[in-house]
Amino acid sequence: MAARLLPATTEQAKTVLKTLPFWAVHLACLAVFWIEFRWSFVALCLALYFSRMFFVTAGYHRYFSHRAFKTSRAFQFLLAYAAMTSAQKGVLWWAAHHRHHHRYADTDQDLHSPGLRGFWWSHVGWILSNRYNRTEVEQIRDFYKFPELRWLNRWFLVPPLTLAVALFLAGGWGWLVWGFFVSTVLLWHGSFLVNSLAHVFGRRRYPTPDDSRNSFLMALLTLGEGWHNNHHHYMASARQGFFWWEIDVTYYLLKLLAWCGLVWELREPPPHVLAEETS
Ligand SMILES: [Zn+2]
Ligand SMILES: [Zn+2]
Repeated sequence: MAARLLPATTEQAKTVLKTLPFWAVHLACLAVFWIEFRWSFVALCLALYFSRMFFVTAGYHRYFSHRAFKTSRAFQFLLAYAAMTSAQKGVLWWAAHHRHHHRYADTDQDLHSPGLRGFWWSHVGWILSNRYNRTEVEQIRDFYKFPELRWLNRWFLVPPLTLAVALFLAGGWGWLVWGFFVSTVLLWHGSFLVNSLAHVFGRRRYPTPDDSRNSFLMALLTLGEGWHNNHHHYMASARQGFFWWEIDVTYYLLKLLAWCGLVWELREPPPHVLAEETS
């Protein structure tokens, strides 16, 4: 009996060990109580939240998962590196799992459907579990061919560690705790809300086969990702706020980058897609 229990126990121990850094980063936020408060720290925290949120949505999501625009190989690397400073694992891992989500959204094969597996699992449980560590190469062959992306994907702690060290060297404990730990925890939960709350809370404009929703508040917090029902309706678009009142800061910044010539061929929803509003 003991021999039969051992593998399961080892497996559980591995899972617990793997989640320790996640909880440690949360705990490290408590260090704010030992650091003299400054509003400049709060500003730094928010600046790093929103700038990295841009790279999560423009990089991990709209570019690597959906190829919603084109760019150079150098800027592609920069997008990957900057997105990965959010400590959300490798760029190929992230995009491959996201493509899987769109293929099976809210079916029993979806890894993070809140309707089928509960809020906690869809928010963070699936990431912390030991089941989905592998990069689904078959989902991401188009980007897997770039050796520099494979390298980043393998050494996925390099970008967040360089950011943390740079912050510490530039501004000491205050910058490290507020700029990295607090900002990263907020960024994690802000990003994860798209997997959890955006399939539960909000309005459905399009009758997609999944439970995706549109939410103005979520769109503000996630720089445009809150228009999740729009996105599931037409995922190839670089623009997720389909109408002028649907604020989508990531799209505005991508337009700015396009004017600078750093990205091009931003894909837009065709008129017939916009007109299909029925629910
Ligand atoms: Zn979704
Ligand atoms: Zn998507």
